[in-house]
Amino acid sequence: MAGSRISRRSMLKGAAALGAFATVAGAASAQQGGTGAPPARTATGPIATLPVRGSFVIRGATVLTMDPSLGDFVPGEMRVNDGVIVAIGRAVDATGAQVIDGTGMICMPGFVDTHWHLWTSLFRPFVRADVGERGYFPVTARLGVHMTPEDSYRSVRLGLAEALSAGVTTVHNWAHNVRSPEHADAELCAMRDTGIRGRFAYGPVQGMPDDEPMNMDGVARIKRDWMPGAGLITLGICSRNVGALNVGGSGARGVVTIDMLRRDWEGARALGLPITMHTSGASPVMALEQAGLLASDVQLVHPLLTTPEERSVLKMRDVRYSTSPAGEARRPASVGVIQLGELLEAGIKASLSTDHTTNNSCDPFGAMRLLFSLHQHRLGPKVPLTMRRLVQLATLDGAVDLGIAGRTGSLTPGKRADIILVRTTDINMTPSGDPYEALVSLAEPVNIDTVIVDGRILRQAGKFTALDHAKVVREAQEATSGLRAKAGWPPA
Ligand SMILES: [Zn+2]
Repeated sequence: MAGSRISRRSMLKGAAALGAFATVAGAASAQQGGTGAPPARTATGPIATLPVRGSFVIRGATVLTMDPSLGDFVPGEMRVNDGVIVAIGRAVDATGAQVIDGTGMICMPGFVDTHWHLWTSLFRPFVRADVGERGYFPVTARLGVHMTPEDSYRSVRLGLAEALSAGVTTVHNWAHNVRSPEHADAELCAMRDTGIRGRFAYGPVQGMPDDEPMNMDGVARIKRDWMPGAGLITLGICSRNVGALNVGGSGARGVVTIDMLRRDWEGARALGLPITMHTSGASPVMALEQAGLLASDVQLVHPLLTTPEERSVLKMRDVRYSTSPAGEARRPASVGVIQLGELLEAGIKASLSTDHTTNNSCDPFGAMRLLFSLHQHRLGPKVPLTMRRLVQLATLDGAVDLGIAGRTGSLTPGKRADIILVRTTDINMTPSGDPYEALVSLAEPVNIDTVIVDGRILRQAGKFTALDHAKVVREAQEATSGLRAKAGWPPA
């Protein structure tokens, strides 16, 4: 441990010399203390200054590449130059590079979270897991209509700060409350300002009539103004549900006819954009198949009630399925069980997601642990599930789901450097044995030492290097207070 501390200090010095710790620039600083109008949040600025991408070598760590052709290196080394992984193995050339001592740490790809409603991150004081009328759906429907673009910015930034703290380096931002062009820009600004990788899935609006088509002009405008940008953010759409009303109040998110759905999906496909849709409640898979709508650009969410016939259709159409175990495990078994074993057995591309953080925290380790427990509880050895497979689900499989496995998801030379270091010398992790066992059975977000996205060190020694923690918290609290007043909370 002493060695790694010394190394981190020297790294901090080195990074400071490179100007890596500049603060958020421009008009954002005008918001300090909560006074003054918020800055315009647009594609052209103001733009936060992120740490520079340098050249560094990580040494001494247990390296889990998640690339089947490379395997693991115990210990191993990897080199990153200007955001790209250039070498990995037992030993790599460190000439001209900073050295990060990874002794006592697991080095692995960052987690890929494939479905997360970041716009709801402000709602923690309002949502109750154990009081029906204060549940996630009624609260988000009631408060969502009051959100300003600045509320959206602060909510998404708070969620992404939590994502980075939990080792998530890619997030699929499921934004189904895009109330105006300014709201869309604000969410994208929050993604850009945190330096995370992700997809912005442009969605409908809370309270939108079911007979109204999605705003494809708005989606096209985002594509024009924001893509490809720096290459970290991609674009898609969130679809409303189809058919009969779903369980759990999902009807609040819109339930449209297959004809309306087709119109929305064709609009997305005309722009070359992928589609994501919840499937809580009665499964829509056969209706989508009969309408000829299923393809590899479709991600479904909440695999709870699929039949063998539907799974063979999903496999044939190369549809992806994201499971969010923290929330799904709280649903009554009568509306389905998490079918991870069935999906894997059928060869369907599955991935892992947080869904929201109003009454769960972002914890990919906990999510893997819960999936393993539920799998053992229900299926056990009938469908073998290894710890390594779960780590793959949370990393490489997420990148496959989002169509960006050529860029991230594994530590492979040529891919972008999205890397985390997890301490095995913390009390809950030591003495360390099998690294996959440790990650799934023991680890917690607090064990994450370093988080690197696209070659930028965004967290080190468990702290943000650029994002202002106190400001993120303060501005989220202010926005929450404002929403409380606007919505007249608590409701009568
Ligand atoms: Zn969801």
